[in-house]
Parts: sequence; structure tokens; C-alpha cells
Amino acid sequence: MRRDRSCEQQRLPFFGGFDGAAVTLNLNAGFLLDLQGVSETNADGIGLYRTEMPFLALRTLPDVKAQQSLYRQVIDEAKGKPVTFRTLDVGGEKLARALGPEIGEPTNPALGLRGVRLGLAQPRLLETQIAAILRAAMHGPVRILLPMVGTANDIVRVRAVLHRVYGRLKKAKVRLPDQMPPLGAMIEIPAAALAVRSIASAADFLSLGTNDLTMYTLAIDRGDEHVADLYDPLHPAVLQLIYTAISGAQAAGVPIALCGEMAGDPRYTSLLLGFGLREFSMRP
Ligand code: PEP
Ligand code: MG
Repeated sequence: MRRDRSCEQQRLPFFGGFDGAAVTLNLNAGFLLDLQGVSETNADGIGLYRTEMPFLALRTLPDVKAQQSLYRQVIDEAKGKPVTFRTLDVGGEKLARALGPEIGEPTNPALGLRGVRLGLAQPRLLETQIAAILRAAMHGPVRILLPMVGTANDIVRVRAVLHRVYGRLKKAKVRLPDQMPPLGAMIEIPAAALAVRSIASAADFLSLGTNDLTMYTLAIDRGDEHVADLYDPLHPAVLQLIYTAISGAQAAGVPIALCGEMAGDPRYTSLLLGFGLREFSMRP
């Protein structure tokens, strides 16, 4: 890591040692407007593109063409830098009107049909999104990230869908990249952090979602102002899980990033570097 002059100019404390380790700083985005941040910040890429945003806003589901065109715009804006598209993460606090019938009215939405569980329960939804990402992937490097992964089997099942859709599009002579995009998993359920070695065996990369990891570990709703003062990513149990995930991924030789709000908060930077984290993804 090299000394960052901007820290000196702003009189921010600089904690890093000068050990030459490379640290990747990526951007989180969810709207096209966010993408200006790529050039403004000179980020290394987009570490988390939250694809659910149009699903949350629209009354009807965007079809494959609409999704492909959106993903193409994101890839174009990234100008050759890698884009990590996270598949649909609705459910819980992210309610999508267009998906009302699929999700139903769960008594406890945070623990219900959400993230990758919804995609596996409604394969057409997942297949449409994967087809749109694969078609757009002709225009730049992409990765596919799965939200709310609980077991290695979630990844194995989505990988089968990925191969099926790729094969179907190839047969239909659609232009596709020669290589299948890497498939990764969010580590945001405590069980996934504890079982990181097993999850890493099925994934090409991992990304820690500390917003949800904190919520599920502490049983504190991230959106409830009545318990907001208890929501603490520095709780020893949360830190234990973050460290377990980072060290487990490293032992398995699988890259791991952190894309929760912690990544962009300088109060946590030295701690996360000390835990061995070398890839951060944050707001512009
Ligand atoms: C997280 O949970 O930390 C995360 C990055 O995802 P989201 O905030 O979109 O749930
Ligand atoms: Mg999350």
C-alpha cells in the first residue's frame, strides 16, 4: 500500500503500513446516475451493481430486452473495468410491487423468499436475468453475484442454470463471451460466514454483505429506527464472523471483497485491512 497524499491534504489519519500490498477500491451502484462515480473516483470497477432497483420501481417486470439494455449501459459506463452484477435481491426490506404474487405476504419477510431463494423458486425470473447479463457481457468484463446465499448448494443450482441458459443462447447463435462469467456469493447470512469453506468450494469469488450480516447476527432490523442505536458492526460476534469469512476464503484461495457500508467508512478501514481484506466496494 502506498501513502495516499489526499489523506495528508485532508488531515485524515493514515493507518496503512507500506507493505506494497495492492488494495482494490470498487464502486457500489444501483442507478445509472451512480455510474458517473466510476470516472469521478477512478474506481477499479463496479464491485456491486444492485440490479433490483428497476424491479422495485416498476409495476411490471422488465423483460430480457429491457434488462439487457440496462446492463449494457452499465458496462459501457464502466469503460472496460469489471462490473459485478448482483442478481435480483428483493424481499425483506426491498419490496417489489411487480413481484407481489411470487413473494406473497410472509409473516417475517427478512426470513422469507428473498434473494437467491426467490430466483431458485422462480427459475424463469433467474433465467431471464442471467440471459440478459450474458447477452450484455459481450461488451465488457462482468461477474455474477448471488445475494442471500445460505449453502454451497444454492451456488451449484444457479451454476446449472447459468450453463443451461448459456447453452440455449449459443444454440440460438446469440453472440456470447467465450468464457462464462465468474459466479460469486454474498456472505451476508451468519451461516454462510461460518460455512465459508464449503461455500468457497462452489464459488469463484465472495463478497461480504455486512449490512445484512450485522442485522441477522444481532437480530436487529437494519431499517428500524427504534433499534438503530443497537445496530453495531463492531459487535464482537459480527467481527468474529467477518474475520472467519475473510480467513476462510483466503485459506480456500477464493477472492473475497466487502461491499456493505462498512467498506466505505474510514473508521473501519484499518481493522478490515488487519483482518486481511484487500478488496473494498463502496459508494462513490
Ligand atoms: C449488504 O447486505 O451488506 C449489502 C451490500 O447488500 P444490500 O445492502 O443491498 O442488502
Ligand atoms: Mg444484503
